[in-house]
Amino acid sequence: MTIARRGLCLVIAAPSGAGKSTITRALLAEEPGLTLSVSVTTRAPRRGEQEGVHYFFRSPEAFAAMAAGSELLEWAEVFGRGYGTPRAPVEAALARGRDVVFDIDWQGHRQLRAALPDDVVSLFILPPSLAELEARLRARGADAEAEIARRMAAARDEVSHAPEFDCILVNHDFAASVAAARAVLAAARLATGRQTGLAAFLGALQAGA
Ligand code: 5GP
Repeated sequence: MTIARRGLCLVIAAPSGAGKSTITRALLAEEPGLTLSVSVTTRAPRRGEQEGVHYFFRSPEAFAAMAAGSELLEWAEVFGRGYGTPRAPVEAALARGRDVVFDIDWQGHRQLRAALPDDVVSLFILPPSLAELEARLRARGADAEAEIARRMAAARDEVSHAPEFDCILVNHDFAASVAAARAVLAAARLATGRQTGLAAFLGALQAGA
């Protein structure tokens, strides 16, 4: 017998270049019960990014209409572009007992917490140093020099919000960071409040089923 439970929202935030996307991808590959929340954005696709896989790429007008129509669970402006989380897939997944991972910023984390207070567990990933972060951003090679300078300033701001998160991890080592993120997920799945079928399970257990 198993206990029916509601899904949870695992929010992973970090300054860009801290390794968040790689860790999230590894988590998704190793955790079959986990689904990625694909955000909507008004920024242009980077090389290799696919519609509906990495983001839903939308015009500012279409994005504003989604926000105004309450189709987004949260949304924020990051680097002057709109980013938001489509509501319907998240609500459907949670009701089905599936867990959802979110690659969003601190503003999205705050709003998601307010919208779904019992469903969120959050993890902030810190780089070992800001110098290392800058090196990683350059190695990625996807952004222009001005964009890197902008992202470094934003990184300092993002890092200042780390204390708002449930768990903090310094990404020294990729494999260790993935293992730690999986541990956060495993513990959150066991929270008593999420075990919606607990009473039924205990009843059956005590009846000798
Ligand atoms: P990028 O442009 O590098 O893909 O993402 C820039 C930042 O926007 C990252 O910190 C990313 O986590 C954040 N972001 C991506 N999607 C969302 C979203 O749906 N909501 C919010 N609030 N932030 C997002």
